[in-house]
Amino acid sequence: MFDYKSAFQNSVEQVRSEGRYRVFADLKRVRGQFPLATRRREDGTEQDVVIWCSNDYLGMGQHPAVLDAMHDALDTVGAGAGGTRNISGTTRSAVDLEAELASWHQKEASLLFTSGYVGNEATLSTLQKILPGLIIFSDALNHASMIEGIRNGGGPRHIFRHNDLAHLEELLAAAPAGAPKLIAFESVYSMDGDIADLKGTIALARKYNAMTYLDEVHAVGLYGATGAGVAERDGVQDQIDIIECTMGKAIGVMGGYIAADAVIVDAVRSWASGFIFTTSLPPALTAGALASVRHLKQHSELREQHQERAQALKDRFAAAGLPVMPSESHIVPVLVGNPVHCKKISDMLLDDYGIYVQPINYPTVPKGTERLRFTPSPNHDDDMMNKLVDAMDKLFSHCNVARRPVAA
Ligand SMILES: *Cc1c(COP(=O)(O)O)cnc(C)c1O
Repeated sequence: MFDYKSAFQNSVEQVRSEGRYRVFADLKRVRGQFPLATRRREDGTEQDVVIWCSNDYLGMGQHPAVLDAMHDALDTVGAGAGGTRNISGTTRSAVDLEAELASWHQKEASLLFTSGYVGNEATLSTLQKILPGLIIFSDALNHASMIEGIRNGGGPRHIFRHNDLAHLEELLAAAPAGAPKLIAFESVYSMDGDIADLKGTIALARKYNAMTYLDEVHAVGLYGATGAGVAERDGVQDQIDIIECTMGKAIGVMGGYIAADAVIVDAVRSWASGFIFTTSLPPALTAGALASVRHLKQHSELREQHQERAQALKDRFAAAGLPVMPSESHIVPVLVGNPVHCKKISDMLLDDYGIYVQPINYPTVPKGTERLRFTPSPNHDDDMMNKLVDAMDKLFSHCNVARRPVAA
């Protein structure tokens, strides 16, 4: 007789033996006090912690404008959307949000999904149905949701070395000239904090008649004059065919979307299973996201403070001789270079110093580049930074981790 229970146990054991078994920290965020939270330990006791690895980059998840809009929607419209978009889920705030997002990215239209993951998976797999024979050129460090979408579409695909335009061009040049092509990439890569060369990629797309698909998940709200992302910062929004984002990170709520020409959005809307057959986002979420986007557009000082805080933390780590990696963005990775030490430093930061940051180990990053990844927000003050750097300094010494310089 097949032993189901041991099959499940073995699969968990495999994850454990590879050092990939996860225990989630039990955290209660405290409204109005971002980035502070209360952690419940396994023995039930509580501890105050500072969160240093949130993707709610600007604290919009607790902003009064967002919360007011969500309360209001809940009180006036109710909880659930009531169905798929086709059945009864097209609510006013979803329609208004799509118009706002399209105009933010200077596109004709946009389309909401239940998450950024679903947006990538559904759009990339569906594009292969809409454009038979589509060849996808995908950056080697693209997010899992893009990889899944590309795989699920089942069509031909080529992986180019991360941010390596010479390699991308080699692959484009080798493909049949008349075939439909799509270059799929991200603007800010969230593990290293580097930023893609948008203009260079667009030039190649033009030369080889390819479409461009850009994931701006870690950039929306944070870059560009109105926060529309790196494409806005670089003045190339009109030259990217499809922009994909989440509303769960800097926007502070939840959900995903694409923005593109109306005909592209119409085609994806008509063919994407991951859009058609799922209940749409509840009105409170779309209303909250709408309020957040409107606020972000108007408040470039938040983006300035955010960049200033990231630079301040990089400078403090460097001054303490800690191996901060050469990030061009708001992401501040510090190299540990060993999975056991990385996990240990993370555990000790939490238990002994009330500092919460996740260890980033293989397979998320290559072996030997294990790191701690900090995401300072405008709400992380100097005092919090000094305590963090001091704790890291002690723990690097305690674990005898090399303070080797990190090459650019
Ligand atoms: C987080 C993330 C996503 C998924 O967005 P969710 O809204 O969290 O599902 C997509 N792409 C990248 C690069 C991400 O980091």
